[in-house]
Amino acid sequence: MKRILFIGLCILTSFKSLACDFSNVIFEHDFATARLGQCKQISDTRFELTIFPELTAKNKPPINNSPWYAFKVTAKSETNIKIVMKVVGGEHRYPPKVSQDGKHWQLQKYRLRNKKMSFQLNVSDKPTWISAQEILTNEQYFQWGRNLAEQENIIQTVLGHSTQKKPIYKIETQGEGKNWLVVLGRQHPPEVTGALAIFPFTETLLSNSDLALEFRKQFNVLVIPNLNPDGVQLGHWRHNANGIDLNRSWKTFDQIESKQVDDYLTALVGQKQKMRMAVDFHSTKQDIFYTMPSDYGMAQPYLVETWLNSLDKEYPDFNVIQKPGNNPGKGVFKQYFTDKFKAHAITYEMGDNTDRRFIDKLAVSAANTLMTTLISSDPVTGK
Ligand SMILES: [Zn+2]
Repeated sequence: MKRILFIGLCILTSFKSLACDFSNVIFEHDFATARLGQCKQISDTRFELTIFPELTAKNKPPINNSPWYAFKVTAKSETNIKIVMKVVGGEHRYPPKVSQDGKHWQLQKYRLRNKKMSFQLNVSDKPTWISAQEILTNEQYFQWGRNLAEQENIIQTVLGHSTQKKPIYKIETQGEGKNWLVVLGRQHPPEVTGALAIFPFTETLLSNSDLALEFRKQFNVLVIPNLNPDGVQLGHWRHNANGIDLNRSWKTFDQIESKQVDDYLTALVGQKQKMRMAVDFHSTKQDIFYTMPSDYGMAQPYLVETWLNSLDKEYPDFNVIQKPGNNPGKGVFKQYFTDKFKAHAITYEMGDNTDRRFIDKLAVSAANTLMTTLISSDPVTGK
């Protein structure tokens, strides 16, 4: 007898429907960062899931291929299931990670065939989380900032609020000098490896090492680690709650998230403070550092090159790729910062699949070499 293949279908169109509840197996997306589109039960133990991006604002380019997903699975009775995942509006980019507590993650073995990703999973009444990358919620950023702010002279305060009125936090330290280093993160919600780098990078800048203490005498540090809390909460592929790519909004400033940063930096400069450098953390296919061309007119043309060359020297087996670029029309943060403040800015991109311990190690070295470079640089001679 022919087996009945199609048993059930569940379409999740909004956060009001938070589960795909089949007879034994339940898929849920009732937590921060969750994303799951459509679920179909093919057999007792086989399920097909489809992932969709968020809506893009009208007349905007198609969304970047960054198919984020995050959901959890439980079964009333323990069973082994097969999950097949399809993507609409893109192609699979992130190998699945699995967790039993939503905090500790392991790479899941999977197959990719005909653009469908499939894997086997043992499920029980205890939830199993499945996600495109490690889950990093708004709450985790806040707690991390709060821990940093337990140190003397480091504060975490609200910079402003997102489109959906979520707080956007800044972590700051101000010494006697007027020079500022700006660190920005999570414009793009799924770019978690960039986020994994911003934590050790910032912790190194704000540490009590002799170098960091000397650095903070001369330089003030402003860290905005999570500029897109709405996108993070909603499990967006790229955009903020208005369907806009924030890293294309630094020319129009029609999005409250980027506008508030611009207002804040402009106010600081109005108080005779000086923007010296910005580092914006992202993820892409490879580890790469997008810089501004050294002949672009920055006060110290070779500052970033000096920094990244010294980072490269520390890693004989790793190539620190520097890619200078200049796109005045696009509304990218790096370009904005350089155009407005005549200071260097870079986009610090970690590969999606870069070893997590290496991300950490490199970020510590990057922060240390940056501090050394900035301390020994001379803004007057440009060296
Ligand atoms: Zn990005």
